[in-house]
Amino acid sequence: MRRADGGGVPRPVLHAQELPAVVPSPEPDSVTYWKQAGQGRLVITRCPECEAFVWIPRPFCPVHMHAATEWVEVSGRGVVYSYTQVERGDGPFAESAPYTLAYVELVEGPRVMTNIVGTPGEQLRVGQEVEVVFHAAADGMAVPRFAVTRPPSRSDDTQASEIATQCDDLVF
Ligand SMILES: [Zn+2]
Repeated sequence: MRRADGGGVPRPVLHAQELPAVVPSPEPDSVTYWKQAGQGRLVITRCPECEAFVWIPRPFCPVHMHAATEWVEVSGRGVVYSYTQVERGDGPFAESAPYTLAYVELVEGPRVMTNIVGTPGEQLRVGQEVEVVFHAAADGMAVPRFAVTRPPSRSDDTQASEIATQCDDLVF
């Protein structure tokens, strides 16, 4: 497992959690993601030729079709890119609403769909800094989610409104 800057000591995998930790049937292309999460590591596929992160996980770079991607551990830090509060959960999430579904933009660039935990949706802001947490799932796997690391400052508010303008057309 290679590491991007910021990878390193595995994070704790938490068992107490506010949302069900359900791994969607892991596919061959994604099982490494869920298993590494179970070890407290957030990993993303990257093309060894152009060094672009490839998300969602794919075995080959979409630009360099011959280049098999490699798994790289990333920092687990990012910002809220966009979010919405789910008012009515479905299936295993039926008892969990309201909860927050979000896109987090990792400092390495990829935007991952995830949940924000630990902060009610009405207190969240676009641009807020977040950090990965891991919620233990079955078979030694875990679900990566994100928690706010600090409240937004004034400069964050300015940045957030700029980002919000850019993602008006984002559709969940
Ligand atoms: Zn490439």
